[in-house]
Amino acid sequence: MSTRLWNSLYQWLEIVQFRLPPPTCVLCQRRGQPLRDLCQPCQQSLPALNQPCPGCALPLPPGTGAALCGQCQQGRTRVHTTVAACRYAEPVSALITRFKYQRQLAAGRVLTSLLLDRIHAHYRGHNLPQLLLPVPLHPQRLRERGYNQSLLIARDLSQALRIPLATGLLQRHRRTSPQQGLSARERRHNLRNAFALSQTWTSNHYQCVALVDDVVTTMSTINEIVSVLQRGGERPPEIHLWCLARAWLDQDGQARPL
Ligand SMILES: [Zn+2]
Ligand SMILES: [Zn+2]
Repeated sequence: MSTRLWNSLYQWLEIVQFRLPPPTCVLCQRRGQPLRDLCQPCQQSLPALNQPCPGCALPLPPGTGAALCGQCQQGRTRVHTTVAACRYAEPVSALITRFKYQRQLAAGRVLTSLLLDRIHAHYRGHNLPQLLLPVPLHPQRLRERGYNQSLLIARDLSQALRIPLATGLLQRHRRTSPQQGLSARERRHNLRNAFALSQTWTSNHYQCVALVDDVVTTMSTINEIVSVLQRGGERPPEIHLWCLARAWLDQDGQARPL
């Protein structure tokens, strides 16, 4: 099926599935806001990212007045900027579990609409990226899950912002162990050489590209992809990162609420 035909079909399915029935809050089941399956009180109760670092979206230490966090100041974050909708804490973490593992796509759609709000605020007066790249799943995991959650997020954002979406350009050609429970170093090792680009990619083609992911914890996956995207280019693109939630690791390597 051509991309154009698929997009038209997707838009119709979206209207039938989400716009005709009245919005219902995914958290309390009461009436949602117009075109959003989330009521106002539940939206206000979601864990926000206070004073996020513009580089990596982790909260800046209170009172320091720093423009960037220590990691970003040392150049350890490879993306230019990060926009995250929420902190990875309850009930956002539960919504992400429902979206990723229980096929409750409405939960992902709600978080994507919150991310869209953040993107509008973040880029006010600045150019948006020229291309969206969802973080790919390995084909075997895609078969098991039935969908790539990052692609669903990116597709909604692509339609809302009218930015082209690149599907199939970035591939995960090596199956990696789940990142959960691994330390930062183990995560980096786990992901080495996991990604590849299709032949059509030319890094000089774009000035700015946004990677789209659901949860970002250590940046290992993202840093690995950035090095693949910028490899060999004379003028590699600036890479931005958009994600639903930002998490961090505790001493045991578990993603924990910030
Ligand atoms: Zn509610
Ligand atoms: Zn930072």
